[in-house]
Amino acid sequence: MRYLDEFQDPALARRLLDDIHATVTRPWAMMEVCGGQTHSIIRHGIDQLLPASVELIHGPGCPVCVTPLEMIDKALAIASLPEVVFCSFGDMLRVPGTEGDLFRVRGAGGDVRVVYSPLDALEIARRHPEKEVVFFGIGFETTAPANAMTVHQARALGVRNFSLLVSHVRVPPAIEAIMRSPDCRVQGFLAAGHVCSVMGVEEYPALAERYRVPIVVTGFEPLDILEGVRRTVRQLERGEHRVENAYPRAVRDEGNPAALRMLAEVFEVTDRAWRGIGVIPGSGWRLAPAFRAYDAEHRFRVGGVRTREPAACRSGEVLQGLIKPHECAAFGTSCTPRNPLGATMVSSEGACAAYYLYRRLDRAAPAEEATPVG
Ligand code: SF4
Repeated sequence: MRYLDEFQDPALARRLLDDIHATVTRPWAMMEVCGGQTHSIIRHGIDQLLPASVELIHGPGCPVCVTPLEMIDKALAIASLPEVVFCSFGDMLRVPGTEGDLFRVRGAGGDVRVVYSPLDALEIARRHPEKEVVFFGIGFETTAPANAMTVHQARALGVRNFSLLVSHVRVPPAIEAIMRSPDCRVQGFLAAGHVCSVMGVEEYPALAERYRVPIVVTGFEPLDILEGVRRTVRQLERGEHRVENAYPRAVRDEGNPAALRMLAEVFEVTDRAWRGIGVIPGSGWRLAPAFRAYDAEHRFRVGGVRTREPAACRSGEVLQGLIKPHECAAFGTSCTPRNPLGATMVSSEGACAAYYLYRRLDRAAPAEEATPVG
């Protein structure tokens, strides 16, 4: 299949790996920012094929995982209201809040629906003017334009019974927070290709310069990731810290101008809490004042929720790359995808779920036992 098989070619993967092995002279640690990349790395055993001195640290780029507990609890409170139809992508339904999840709300009689697009939720609002329809708008820069466009359309159509529960997050401030952490071991970044396809790369040169880290825009297939690692290693060995685009088939330097215009009109930058990490200044979006009437938090006044994370869950450390999932005592015992304690075990992009799914139940296996690429 075009654009899939050709980026999983074992012979090309071997050549890239040979190049990486030949280049590396000392230990390096780099972070893949995106949960989709983490999933691909673990699924294909890429980390086990790299030289032992190259460590991939899994970053906080799973939108389900970093949605703060307070926002999950607000979603549960809103979804429980009798007049509300609460719409969400499916993976949010199992994310544990302080008291249960959206499935539990549905089981108790709440009208919680899985949709495949925010426009589906808008359509439900149009068909049911007697209901309040809320869409759970979470995610990074990738999902934000569609949510912005839906609110824009709701206003244009005069649909007043639609609102958005917004928990959007932005990658560059998270990179900055990681680099400022006293425990930071990251020496280079594989930036998330799909985020850059929307936003472009203009926010990255200042970060690369300030923290003297290479930032390589990287895709998601095995060859994409190996190429991202290869370029990052090459820069590190040379003492360079530039921004490179290793994903040009999807990313242009200027991003997607139409999406950027929509984001600028509908959202404004705000501080945002990340689950397990805390508040990162300027790391989120909320609806701009002109669209505040479509803000579910504003409409339903669900402030004052009291949150409580499970004491055993170390997902904050996982999300910051401080531990690997199997180093959490609950991993695979009291915490599994069927009974998750934390969001990183729920989402298919969560590091804990990826480790569980691909049987990384203990320390990484030696390279000869790794799953071959492709
Ligand atoms: S294994 Fe479960 S309890 Fe441990 S950090 Fe991951 S989600 Fe939390």
